[in-house]
Amino acid sequence: YSHPHLSKLLVVSTISGGGLLAFSESSPLRSTYAADVGDIKKKKVVVLGTGWAGTSFLKSLKDPSYEVQVVSPRNYFAFTPLLPSVTNGTVEARSIVEPIRSIVKKKKFDVQFREAECYKIDTQNKKVYCKSTQESNLGGSEEFTVDYDYLVIAMGARSNTFNTPGVVEHAHFLKEIEDARRIRRTVIDCFERAGLPSVSEEERKKILHFVVVGGGPTGVEFAAELHDFVIEDLAKLYPTLKEHVKITLLEAGDHILNMFDKRITQFAEDKFQRDGINLKVGSMVTKVSETEISTKERDTGKTVSIPYGMVVWSTGIGTRPVVTDFMKQIGQTNRRVLATDEWLRVEGCDSIYALGDCATINQRKVMEDISAIFNKADKNNTGRLKVDDFKEVINDICERYPQVEIHLKRKQLRNFVHLLKNSQGEDELDIEKFKLALTEVDTQMKNLPATAQVAAQQGAYLAECFNRMKICETYPEGPLRFRGTGRHRFHPFRYKHLGQFAPLGGEQTAAELPGDWVSIGHSTQWLWYSVYASKLVSWRTRVLVVSDWGRRFIFGRDSSRI
Ligand code: FAD
Repeated sequence: YSHPHLSKLLVVSTISGGGLLAFSESSPLRSTYAADVGDIKKKKVVVLGTGWAGTSFLKSLKDPSYEVQVVSPRNYFAFTPLLPSVTNGTVEARSIVEPIRSIVKKKKFDVQFREAECYKIDTQNKKVYCKSTQESNLGGSEEFTVDYDYLVIAMGARSNTFNTPGVVEHAHFLKEIEDARRIRRTVIDCFERAGLPSVSEEERKKILHFVVVGGGPTGVEFAAELHDFVIEDLAKLYPTLKEHVKITLLEAGDHILNMFDKRITQFAEDKFQRDGINLKVGSMVTKVSETEISTKERDTGKTVSIPYGMVVWSTGIGTRPVVTDFMKQIGQTNRRVLATDEWLRVEGCDSIYALGDCATINQRKVMEDISAIFNKADKNNTGRLKVDDFKEVINDICERYPQVEIHLKRKQLRNFVHLLKNSQGEDELDIEKFKLALTEVDTQMKNLPATAQVAAQQGAYLAECFNRMKICETYPEGPLRFRGTGRHRFHPFRYKHLGQFAPLGGEQTAAELPGDWVSIGHSTQWLWYSVYASKLVSWRTRVLVVSDWGRRFIFGRDSSRI
């Protein structure tokens, strides 16, 4: 899970309000309603987290027959794709957050929000242990438990340091709103300090050396945003310091943006070189001290010490301790994130779902199941299947496992497609050959990326399952079960990839669009503006962000250290 996973994706928020009955927590009609419907016991749904997955679930849940409790240490939803823009003041922090209570207020049924963090999940007694958040300034600590019938775990992930010494103490992360605000203040601090008359030339260079670790989309976007800030605003405000500023991007692999099309990687690397951003690939950080960052260079094998003024660490995500504890408890010890099935149910648990960055669909089991589907279809154990039966099996597999369908469509399973084409005219097909071809899926079918796009789609999918729970219990609509009889209640989760963006600064963006289209340049930047403006979760945030962009165009960015 160490992967630089945070692809700049066209975020799909399926966030839509609405509901069937109109009784809020405080509504005077609520008691009347309770009296009317008698003592119907509502199922308790507990949602942990108010990020992309949790909020999307909450917004898409419409069935009023649940009693919903949301627990999160953050009483707002943050639009993370614009977080790098907060680090330099292109947009303000408050413009990209939406209070959870505003979202809750719009729900037309019973939803309660608790600002607290879950520290333990008790699966035996179906209880979640929570304590008030450390971040609040009120002091003291409140503890409470919440009962659940269904638990939705959407706690996201934390930044991964790979246990590199000194990172937690000295580096900045870029994961939360507070991180972005801190970075903004530190950049200005560095400029103000470097401008003091007592500071030596050498010290000045050190203070104005900004190091970004990690060449994934977040690191690259941050480096680009910082460069824009320096060139477009700070260079004018601190003219004597301009020549001392240096931005270095350290990447342990061979290239930056390695999950993107090669053309994008090449364009980004060339652009950074033109802009004077010092890009060092094959450079692995081994230690961060208060004043220096140590790297091991792959080419020379030498250890290099780089003096810095500010380090931003953006190398990927890791598991939150509470999720690690929970995984131990349910026997998922040798995994990095919670394993679920394709219906997002946590493996080995009853009524617990996990989505977003803290979970992944267990692909190994998918391969076993695919093999089992073939074996089941081959009733006489001949190792061969009639062409029509074979097609049915493939349809079945595709219905259950969208990943396979996606790969078939993209013709990445070349052997497979080749075999299928050559089979025309034959009556029967050799299963083993196809199974062999399908093992390609194993290596090609990577885990879903840890992105907002995936998290939001999973949240909306799960809410839709909850909305249809009753009807689907009577009329299941999923694929046929191959270990039991009848159908699954729901269709499995299908991820629809809508493309990904990589903003590169200087009003230029690269985008990889569906159908393997690549678009780079100024026009793509306008596409980026319009997609992100449209995907913001409310009209309030949309107006705020667009006016922030306008303000920046007219007046430049604000360099006050507040
Ligand atoms: P999160 O959104 O992180 O939400 C987790 C929630 O759980 C939070 O509300 C948190 O407070 C809460 N929580 C934490 N601990 C507890 C606890 N103990 N108890 C209860 N609640 C808890 N993705 C894209 O698709 N496109 C992009 O352009 C993009 N850009 C990004 C830029 C940055 C700077 C970052 C950091 C990420 C970016 N991502 C992007 C990735 C995207 O933000 C994540 O994949 C997404 O947030 C995952 O959603 P989530 O709901 O799983 O987790």
